[in-house]
Amino acid sequence: MADMITLDGVGKIYPGAGAPALAGLSLNIQEGEFFTLLGPSGCGKTTLLRCIAGLEMPSSGMIRIGSTTVFDFDQQINLGPNYRNIGMVFQSYAIWPHMTVFENVAFPLRCRKEKNVRQRVERAMNVVGLQDFAERYSSRLSGGQQQRVALARAIVAQPDVMLLDEPLSNLDATLRTQMRAELRRLQKEIGVTTVLVTHDQQEALSMSDRIAVMSDGRVLEVDTPRNLYQWPKTAFSAQFIGSANLLPGMLTDRGLGPVVTTAIGELKVIEQQIRGEVTCFIRPEHIRITAECAQNEPNVLPASLGDIQYIGENCECDVLLPTGGQQVSLRARISADTMLRQGDRCHISIPPEQIRCIEVASQNRTI
Ligand code: ADP
Ligand code: MG
Repeated sequence: MADMITLDGVGKIYPGAGAPALAGLSLNIQEGEFFTLLGPSGCGKTTLLRCIAGLEMPSSGMIRIGSTTVFDFDQQINLGPNYRNIGMVFQSYAIWPHMTVFENVAFPLRCRKEKNVRQRVERAMNVVGLQDFAERYSSRLSGGQQQRVALARAIVAQPDVMLLDEPLSNLDATLRTQMRAELRRLQKEIGVTTVLVTHDQQEALSMSDRIAVMSDGRVLEVDTPRNLYQWPKTAFSAQFIGSANLLPGMLTDRGLGPVVTTAIGELKVIEQQIRGEVTCFIRPEHIRITAECAQNEPNVLPASLGDIQYIGENCECDVLLPTGGQQVSLRARISADTMLRQGDRCHISIPPEQIRCIEVASQNRTI
């Protein structure tokens, strides 16, 4: 599939700021893709989105939308937002309270003096389910309805690209989950290439075709939600997406298959195609806790139970493992009806195929 957005070495330094907000990053976003920029607050997501929109001018690099170069630092090209065919939804929605729903949605078409306004606005209102609210003033809408107005306004002019900056973060939890599914359906229905900015990993995992994990103005990795969750390439992604236990170790193979030597002992792992210094990561749901020592299982270790917290279907707990030096604590899941209590001795087992090893040397590489 063809690229719809190409970013090449895009950097941004705000005047007076110490570190760059964007440290020269490159990305290719495909036509029709739902692409998410995921990272903690302050990592540069909004800045990047605003650079794509033309609301912020990068300090270096090149941006192409479709076949049009909309920004090129070296060639001094910088098209204004009106010349980039984009629709945008801001966190605050930025809709006008003194206008009706119809007029809010019609606004981009009126600005461009386009034809067939009524027909096109009605179609956009239909897509987001607002057809019965056309004459209602926007100030008299719920948060979820205002969100839909902002979306309808973003798609009414049939943009090449839709840019969404934390569009669901002002909604309550139930509505947010509902809107995730709806937004995803809408995006696939109209087929518009979409870039979503969020710090919410659940949102990113459930909606995206691909996710770029960002930290400190850089893109650390780009992958599908499933690959990012199961095989993150950086310790940062492993921890930011879902929860993970990280253990430093040394990966070797002395002829009996690969093993990692860690503070809690030697752990068998499956073939990882790397050797040397690694960070192992293990999801809490992959650590099995038993009262008895399971015979014939690999990676069985004696432990004791720390704090147990009830989290719904099951419990999360700390398991404490004795080591030569200080105690190591791992996060694990345990059945809510377990007979084990805090302080009890137990055993843990970790299936080798559930231990991922990330090469320490690759951590400093960025895209
Ligand atoms: P995010 O959206 O990921 O939370 P931002 O893109 O808003 O991150 O910000 C990235 C960095 O740039 C932050 O350190 C922020 O303080 C800084 N920044 C953002 N906007 C401005 C601005 N207009 N002037 C100066 N610094 C800014
Ligand atoms: Mg932001």
